[in-house]
Amino acid sequence: MGQIVRFFQCKTCETSWSSKAYRKTRSQCPNEHCANDDEVKEVKKKRKYYGCLFGHFSCNECANRWASAFAYHRIWQKCKECLAKAMPHSMMEHEIKKGKPKAKGKPHLADLCGMCSTGKPCKIVRDNQLPDVIDALVRVSLTG
Ligand SMILES: [Zn+2]
Ligand SMILES: [Zn+2]
Ligand SMILES: [Zn+2]
Repeated sequence: MGQIVRFFQCKTCETSWSSKAYRKTRSQCPNEHCANDDEVKEVKKKRKYYGCLFGHFSCNECANRWASAFAYHRIWQKCKECLAKAMPHSMMEHEIKKGKPKAKGKPHLADLCGMCSTGKPCKIVRDNQLPDVIDALVRVSLTG
């Protein structure tokens, strides 16, 4: 499944670092000489998203909202009610139970999915979780 890389910067010593820690939006300053003992909050706008994530969508044309286990950075899904395209907001790693990621919920509506419309159905994407593969797919879909 997908992965999120989060970025952090310590205000005390100005060290910056990134972390792939699962769903962790706070991190301890890695500088052992730093006096800051508090956890540092993530610099959210610097987040990087890789692969298939759990995302929330809301339609700009109607009031419809939905969640999908097949959300990708900058890949749209169409609203089921009015077919307007919406981009995911608040993406999160999939829930992990007993070491195995689990995508729960309703069946995937491939007709409404931007990734599926690139000719690379989400099933294939899920089986190939290399970030550079996903990156290439994202570029393909952005250029049409
Ligand atoms: Zn520090
Ligand atoms: Zn809508
Ligand atoms: Zn899809």
